[in-house]
Amino acid sequence: MPIQWFPGHMAKARRQVTEKLKLVDIIFELVDARLPISSANPMMHEIIHQKRRVLILNKADMADPSMTEKWLAYYEKQGIRAVAINSKDGQGLHKLTKAAQAEMSEKIERNRLRGMKPRAIRAMILGIPNVGKSTLINRLVKKNITQTGNRPGVTKAQQWIKVGKELDLLDTPGILWPKFEDSDVGFRLALTGAIKDDILDLTEVAEYGYDYVGAFYPTFLTDYLGTEEPLTGKEMLERIAKNRQLMDEEFIDYSRAAEHFVRDFRALKMGRVTLDRPDEYEEVATSEPS
Ligand code: GDP
Repeated sequence: MPIQWFPGHMAKARRQVTEKLKLVDIIFELVDARLPISSANPMMHEIIHQKRRVLILNKADMADPSMTEKWLAYYEKQGIRAVAINSKDGQGLHKLTKAAQAEMSEKIERNRLRGMKPRAIRAMILGIPNVGKSTLINRLVKKNITQTGNRPGVTKAQQWIKVGKELDLLDTPGILWPKFEDSDVGFRLALTGAIKDDILDLTEVAEYGYDYVGAFYPTFLTDYLGTEEPLTGKEMLERIAKNRQLMDEEFIDYSRAAEHFVRDFRALKMGRVTLDRPDEYEEVATSEPS
């Protein structure tokens, strides 16, 4: 369940991540493919320093596939290695080892020239709550013959999952906090369920989602609401309330209608909607520190 973050939580999370970082060669940073920027932790660079990273757009099955292509092109242009996967069904998991090897290739070659024996790449998963970290780890555990073992010299024993011969993955992910000072980011996180429903007004969340889908996927709404009539956010909620008997003569239950809309959005009843768009970020994009 998503928790609400306070400065104490953040400091503790950061400390735990910093400890784990020492154990690994590379980070798999998990984000939600529907909102790759809004579901990323803005302090990632600062926290992981020079550590190599592969960005994983998870839940690609829920995102608009054409936008996922655009996001992959966006990251490629910035020199960030990114892959899209679906942890729930296990699609695309084979990309992880290859991406890690490609990202580590210089170091692997350097070690080889120094005559060092090749060893498995050590990786950890990092991301904000609800992006699918545990789902991915469970998938990888199930898929692989698990040989876990403690490594000496680690205060708290960490378990490793062997993903083939070439990758060792820490079995507990690093958890970072989302940042939602920006109202677009907050609404987008709320719509996908990445933050608790009581943090923002759900009626506003529903109206934000309605406006967004209306702007970028207008035909989805025609099918969902069964009308081509342009409705205001309020009218949309009234329509849902009417269709689902969430009203009587005196009272329209807007918040229940909003709950229905948000639930339907999450269940893809409207379709696969991507909420962050690369063209919003192109101008402010900064490249990776080298
Ligand atoms: P964590 O907090 O990052 O560990 O996230 P979880 O692994 O608990 O996943 C949060 C929710 O997202 C769960 O309901 C998962 O079933 C769902 N989920 C995770 N990965 C995927 C995915 O690739 N596709 C879909 N459709 N759902 C996913």
